[in-house]
Amino acid sequence: HFQPQVDMASGRLIGTEALIRWRDPDEGLISPARFIPVAEETGLIVPIGEWVLRTACAQARKWQDAGHHFTIAVNLSARQLQQADLPQRVAALMAEAGVGPDWLEIELTESTLAGDHVSTEMRLRALKELGITLSIDDFGTGYSSLAYLKRFPIDVLKIDQSFVRDIPQDRNDMEIAATIIAMAHTLKLRVVAEGVETPEQLAFLKEQKCDAWQGYLFSKPLPADEFTARFLSD
Ligand code: C2E
Ligand code: CA
Ligand code: CA
Repeated sequence: HFQPQVDMASGRLIGTEALIRWRDPDEGLISPARFIPVAEETGLIVPIGEWVLRTACAQARKWQDAGHHFTIAVNLSARQLQQADLPQRVAALMAEAGVGPDWLEIELTESTLAGDHVSTEMRLRALKELGITLSIDDFGTGYSSLAYLKRFPIDVLKIDQSFVRDIPQDRNDMEIAATIIAMAHTLKLRVVAEGVETPEQLAFLKEQKCDAWQGYLFSKPLPADEFTARFLSD
């Protein structure tokens, strides 16, 4: 499924996040919260993650052929980042689909970035050199180390929905969100807020100059054909 990302200032669609779904004949849609942890444990997340990347690139090609241009953000697991040839694999998938790196954004969590720093840094630099945008997902919820921001070639911070949910009731969350935005801008990073559900949350984030947002207030994640019909047809 694909969830739109919207530019705060213009209200225009600037990207989409690819979110995997498992369609079961009996149970219907199974949430990734249920199967991603198991896939991580068993290592199946590597082929699954590769399927997500391939599917995202193929979809990018379809949208490109229809004259559109925006980015597709793909969630990457720590196990995928452990692959020495990850940058080559990603490059091969883009070539196979015939799309450029401007279509692709890779989302990493702070825990994915923990661990073997030297090889992580090398792989992220290689992805960056391909021209791919790199984001830190769920920012502020993991082993937050501000050293990551200095060390890795990050472009975007995503404010976790736990800091958005209780705006405007929770002053602390508002301060944290505002601080993340201010710090990101000082470091020349873009900020995307996720989990925006109410006009009050959106107004606050806009006032704080958050760059872009996604959330149910605009749309939940949708299958590609519904996404196209709703947001890309005139
Ligand atoms: P995430 O990357 O933080 O994705 C955001 C989650 O928030 C998604 O849940 C999305 O459907 C949900 N969401 C979006 N807008 C709103 C909103 O306004 N309110 C609320 N309450 N929720 C909102 P989803 O799709 O169930 O995915 C859960 C997690 O599973 C993702 O969290 C991500 O960590 C993981 N995941 C999903 N797809 C993939 C994938 O292809 N690869 C990997 N490695 N992980 C994935
Ligand atoms: Ca994500
Ligand atoms: Ca997230």
